[in-house]
Amino acid sequence: MSSTLWDDSPTKSHAALSGDVSADVCVVGLGGSGLTCIVELRTLGLSVVGLDASAIGAGAAGRNGGFLLAGLAAFHHDAAERYGRERAAALYRLTQAEIDRITALTPKLVRRPGSLRIADSPEERADCRHQLEAMRSDGLAVEWYAGPEGEGLLVPGDGTFNPLARCRALADIAIELGATLHERSRVIGIDSSGVHTSDGLVHCRSVVVAVDGRLERLLPELSGRVRTARLQMLATAPDPQVSFPRPIYSRWGYDYWQQRQDGSLALGGARDVGGDAEWTDDVSPTDPVQRALERRLRETIGARAPVTHRWAASVGYTADGLPIAEQVRPKVWAIGGYSGTGNVIGALLGRAAARAVARGDDALLRAFASTPV
Ligand SMILES: Cc1cc2nc3c(=O)[nH]c(=O)nc-3n(C[C@H](O)[C@H](O)[C@H](O)COP(=O)(O)OP(=O)(O)OC[C@H]3O[C@@H](n4cnc5c(N)ncnc54)[C@H](O)[C@@H]3O)c2cc1C
Repeated sequence: MSSTLWDDSPTKSHAALSGDVSADVCVVGLGGSGLTCIVELRTLGLSVVGLDASAIGAGAAGRNGGFLLAGLAAFHHDAAERYGRERAAALYRLTQAEIDRITALTPKLVRRPGSLRIADSPEERADCRHQLEAMRSDGLAVEWYAGPEGEGLLVPGDGTFNPLARCRALADIAIELGATLHERSRVIGIDSSGVHTSDGLVHCRSVVVAVDGRLERLLPELSGRVRTARLQMLATAPDPQVSFPRPIYSRWGYDYWQQRQDGSLALGGARDVGGDAEWTDDVSPTDPVQRALERRLRETIGARAPVTHRWAASVGYTADGLPIAEQVRPKVWAIGGYSGTGNVIGALLGRAAARAVARGDDALLRAFASTPV
């Protein structure tokens, strides 16, 4: 069983870093966030070297559910309560605009059928009603939905993509714009002389660390503010018995699935079933979570096709659900800790971090940043 559903696009390999090199900026982490940062840095005219411990999109960025949802990790009404109505609505609009940007840059990889939040219980149906009211009163597009999938909310404008194909496309764009990328180049230290791997050193004026899960491993000063968790998924062969035109979020966001155009399903979630064991940086799928996903697949979703892939990856959670987006050491910026939803916010903060590096500060970065706890 190969590892993920998404590995169906051509890939190019990039040599490991060897020896000393120089650039204006070194970006650590070649997922969607780091690669978006690199593209923006090149657009701003700065020279960039990007490093990844493994390969392009090898982390959560290439191994996730492929949802492109507007908003923060919390549902909008909860976000409004936590962060204030105006701030939550402003951040929501920024993520909507970022989905438009993602679509414009890689149009062939993105579909925008909207997304569904389907209630799994009467309590969740009532919560969907609260979300509907909060979104409507803030002028955000949303509709009540009742259909074959169940009852809940339809959010127009949301969509899906193949996350690994997107990372590979971004890497191609970065190379075309003149960036240098190195795979198999784990960063083991960042100090005033630059960014160190076991075989090389990048001398640079600034560093952007764009790593979601395990961010605290590389930047120990963030321990206690960001915590690594494992998220798991499975996928099936094409299943003609079921039809899901839109990606679905259900059971308070714990479970989520989408059906690709060839009919195959990607289903993730059940982190609550795994309990405390999921606070780990191990990325092996586990029996309890995979069994729970399979029950969901067979009993609720009604799919009969065989399971073809099972996988997991690391993400970072913060206490308040807002990302890490700040200068953590002089000239070292960190973005990550997206609390399970980094496809859109990671891209947005990748661009914001590039501007912060180029100009010394960026309002967008400050608008999102998690407050130290
Ligand atoms: C199963 C699953 C499902 C998810 N579903 C969704 C979804 O549907 N929608 C959504 O928005 N979000 C989803 N997420 C979250 C989302 O995938 C992540 O928040 C996002 O992809 C993070 O991307 P990134 O580029 O910031 O970081 P990462 O993907 O974490 O990339 C970091 C890169 O840094 C590299 N790296 C790490 N340490 C070092 C080091 N020391 N030196 C050099 N390189 C290093 C890694 O190899 C990796 O390639 C999901 C996550 C998982 C795991």
